[in-house]
Amino acid sequence: MAKRLVILGGGESGVGTAILGKKKGFEVFVSDFGKIKEIYKKVLLHHEIEWEDEGHTEAKILSADVVMKSPGIPEKAPLIVKLKEANLKVISEIEFASEYTEATIIGITGSNGKTTTASLTYALLKDELNVALGGNIGKSFAQLVAEDTYENYVLELSSFQLDGIETFRPHISVLTNITPDHLDRYDYDFNKYIASKFRIAMNQTKEDYFIYDADDEVITKWLSEYPIQSQLLPFSIDKKLEEGAYIENKNIIIKTKINSHTMPITNLQLTGNHNLKNAMAASTVATLLRIRKDTIRQSLESFQGVEHRLEKVLKINNVVYINDSKATNVNATFYALDSMESPTVWIVGGVDKGNEYEELLPLVNEKVKAIICLGVDNDKIIKAFGNVVDIMVETESMRDAVQVAYRLSEKGDTVLLSPACASFDLFENYEDRGRQFKEAVRNL
Ligand code: ADP
Repeated sequence: MAKRLVILGGGESGVGTAILGKKKGFEVFVSDFGKIKEIYKKVLLHHEIEWEDEGHTEAKILSADVVMKSPGIPEKAPLIVKLKEANLKVISEIEFASEYTEATIIGITGSNGKTTTASLTYALLKDELNVALGGNIGKSFAQLVAEDTYENYVLELSSFQLDGIETFRPHISVLTNITPDHLDRYDYDFNKYIASKFRIAMNQTKEDYFIYDADDEVITKWLSEYPIQSQLLPFSIDKKLEEGAYIENKNIIIKTKINSHTMPITNLQLTGNHNLKNAMAASTVATLLRIRKDTIRQSLESFQGVEHRLEKVLKINNVVYINDSKATNVNATFYALDSMESPTVWIVGGVDKGNEYEELLPLVNEKVKAIICLGVDNDKIIKAFGNVVDIMVETESMRDAVQVAYRLSEKGDTVLLSPACASFDLFENYEDRGRQFKEAVRNL
């Protein structure tokens, strides 16, 4: 008799797992507490997969042989607790999918820079390798494995996705950085969140590689206390390294056992020190996979970045408008402000996630000429920066914010949307916030 696979959550990872499970001979049932999107319902129907939404039929779920929990559902959700008490095997999509592929896996995690680094890594590999990009971005890993055509996967992995793995083992893992985020899911314990990120390396062996930011003290301290099996390849913009990637005379130097390269940074399209780090991480992966130096160089030079991440929108009256809506925490905004090269009118705010703004003070002092608050939690922002910036305006819609920015900016300035906050007060999500910004700018 076919084994019963129950999937909790009918989103991208749930539907991907359903398709893969069906292909592998499971009897599949998808159950979602909320509403399943029409597009996913159509896919399930097409694959003749049974589903329910807006509620769970517990008896049906409890009759499963194995349950896949989507990453959005917390471990502490009552249903998950009940399933575990019933000794049911609850696994994640990443774990399930990895059992059905022998391909080379490049796993990329970190608090910030996952999407940019994963997209750039894919761009560096795609001309020479049969590779797919997915995970927390685009198609789910399970969906890609079900397609069964790829020899390499570049996977963006969130901490929630890593929490559900048991045997998943990337051949190359990348840890971009660690700063406090999503602490509500980790009992407000930063160490638990760090441990979650390091799960990316927990099944790696001596044959595998671990690429990480050697300038990140959280990472280096943790590594010194909890050594891992894989071969370490650090990257740094501050210091020269024996092995790994670093900067010298405006070049990225990459040194690995497989190959070594030197590449000029002057032609990089991506700006800012954080992107230099992302470029070093991605180029190290490409070097390990024996991508030719010319290919790496050309791809680095042509990669334009990802939408909503320091995305240049327009230049109007010699003022550049930049959409960094994906900056949903203080660290991402730190790097955005750090990369500003002209006086900046900064649009900031949204839903505060326990932000500590102090680390931004020197940058704001140096670069920001006006602050436009856009969100529910403006008080903290006003308190943090009231003494360093003369002009502070509170606004209530993106249109207002952009029009005020237009009035306050002068030739040579930059208008930067980099909220350092979540978007759910005024917008559906960060994409909606970024799109509204771009639309308002285009309408100026
Ligand atoms: P993630 O997928 O981890 O959220 P993104 O690549 O989408 O990361 O970038 C999220 C935000 O963080 C953007 O505002 C981006 O400019 C900023 N960012 C990108 N790379 C880094 C990095 N290495 N360190 C800090 N911030 C970064």
